[in-house]
Amino acid sequence: MSDVIKLLPDAVANQIAAGEVIQRPASAVKELLENAIDAGADSIRLIIKDAGKTLIQVVDNGVGMTETDASLCFERHATSKIQQASDLFSIRTMGFRGEALASVAAIARVELKTRTVDEQIGTEVIAEAAKLQSRNPCNCPKGTSISVKNLFFNTPARRNFLKSDNVEKRHILHELQRIAIARPDISFHYYQNNQLTHQLNKSKLKQRIANLFGSNYNQRLVPVDENTQIVKISGFVGKPEYAKKVRGEQFFYVNQRYIRSPYLNHAVESAFKELIPEGAHPSFFLFLETAPEQIDVNVHPTKTEIKFQDDNYIYQIIKAAVKRSLGSYNLSPSIDFEQESAFDDDRPVKDRPIKPPSITINPDYNPFETGRSHKHSTSGELPGRISPKQWEKLYPADVDLPVSGDADDGKQFVISPDWESREAEENGQKKFFQLHARYILTPVKSGIMIIDQQRAHERILFEKFNRNVASGKAASQQLLFSDQIRLTENEAEILKEIIEVVQDCGFSIRILENNEFEINAIPAGLSEDLALEDVLEGLIENVHKNREEFRKDMQNNVLRAMAKRMAVRHGKALTEEEMSSIVNNLFACEIPQFTPSGKIVLQIISHLELSERFK
Ligand code: ADP
Ligand code: MG
Repeated sequence: MSDVIKLLPDAVANQIAAGEVIQRPASAVKELLENAIDAGADSIRLIIKDAGKTLIQVVDNGVGMTETDASLCFERHATSKIQQASDLFSIRTMGFRGEALASVAAIARVELKTRTVDEQIGTEVIAEAAKLQSRNPCNCPKGTSISVKNLFFNTPARRNFLKSDNVEKRHILHELQRIAIARPDISFHYYQNNQLTHQLNKSKLKQRIANLFGSNYNQRLVPVDENTQIVKISGFVGKPEYAKKVRGEQFFYVNQRYIRSPYLNHAVESAFKELIPEGAHPSFFLFLETAPEQIDVNVHPTKTEIKFQDDNYIYQIIKAAVKRSLGSYNLSPSIDFEQESAFDDDRPVKDRPIKPPSITINPDYNPFETGRSHKHSTSGELPGRISPKQWEKLYPADVDLPVSGDADDGKQFVISPDWESREAEENGQKKFFQLHARYILTPVKSGIMIIDQQRAHERILFEKFNRNVASGKAASQQLLFSDQIRLTENEAEILKEIIEVVQDCGFSIRILENNEFEINAIPAGLSEDLALEDVLEGLIENVHKNREEFRKDMQNNVLRAMAKRMAVRHGKALTEEEMSSIVNNLFACEIPQFTPSGKIVLQIISHLELSERFK
């Protein structure tokens, strides 16, 4: 057999990679604007034709490029921003992978004009489908102008995939907003089809927000300003009375980089609690500044997500800072605003390992409240957990115990699960019984155990998902045919927020337009014929419901919701094998007695109780 593996030609490889970086005109806009900012420009023009499908042009007055750089910049991994891997950790610029221009050039015709301040003559470079077409001297102002024409001309599938002009324009505007809010010190001019639609002069942040969202915002905003040793937080929040039904103007930046973080958003929203009606969302424009070391480097720095060394601490600071602002504007019942700072920052910054706070709340743990007295807990163990020993006591399948179970022989009534199981096996009899398609009954040493099948399965799935996620290998199974689902606006919003986590749990989901999502893979072991829409909607609903309590552990939240939706329903007939598997798996769980949300999974009716009843 001849060799079959071939290296893809560069042009094809670039096209594929480009798909990842540039999904739509707005992604190109983002990359070009970020480059202009990185180049130190303080005046940037964005020019769009046909929602970016025909032309995207960004003109800046930044440092420009030399003749060599002007052609080098289209090479993949050509970047002036990092030289060694360790630079990654202290990155302050927007881009650094050196991928954007190569990607754009792979799928469009790009015309670049650039000149540095030291040179009289600039350079014009034209590239198309990843090939340099020409490089010539040209006359141009200092700075750089990049025109991207006919985006996706050579990838028709992607081009066809583009949405209506209005939708694409909305995406572009969002990118511009995100960047413009972060940099009010830069002026932006935005032209659409030859019309200047946004003129954003250099200004203060508040003015910039008003320029973008309407002059009435001047009255709507309350400043936030808090400085601790670890972070500085500044910006504005909207007054509670202007909170909106849809989660709209929420902008969060860390070190000037726009990020999406449901966790941090939640911190802000929680400060508004009791000030706004349920279901309403405040607007906010907040900036966090922190040393890059505080940010978890494992989180891809190009993504819009973020993880801090100490999430919980950051959460508390944000919440406190926002509360304090609302309070000092007499908008919130003031509780602890006497303090100088909203947050007591007594932590030495360095030389102190950052630990989780000493009080941790395990949302899954349901203390054995009175009335539910399972007195299994032994010292040193989590209450609620049945140790293997205890399980053995409860259900010693392999131990041989002499028993008399024959009610006819008039002897004392004694039962042993062992007798049950052995006998059952020998006779090919059942060890598990299903009751009302809802409970699994099985004899145990001390009596009869009744297990709620759905709740048990919920617990099993939850712990399994958790293990998979913890070990970083939530296995997926590719779907033969990808599934498309359409959600409501709100549902889509929530799914987008939790999508990374959902992916970590084994789903592969692509966000389409119009609240549509394409599901390409589902967690391994999940039955393919499940109504996926149901599963996702269910978990979204759950997440929504849990939001109020949702603190640190969003992941748990999702896993819980997944477990809940995927568990076998009441009403489903189970085979003996299935029951056996549920029971065995249940008792391999850490906390078999309760569902992740704290409902009772099983009950045991003791012999004593039974015999009492038969007196
Ligand atoms: P990255 O921004 O990740 O470095 P890009 O592909 O976006 O990668 O850009 C490659 C390089 O081209 C940049 O590192 C920079 O040196 C140069 N460059 C791109 N755009 C501009 C610009 N507007 N002004 C000056 N230099 C630029
Ligand atoms: Mg870049």
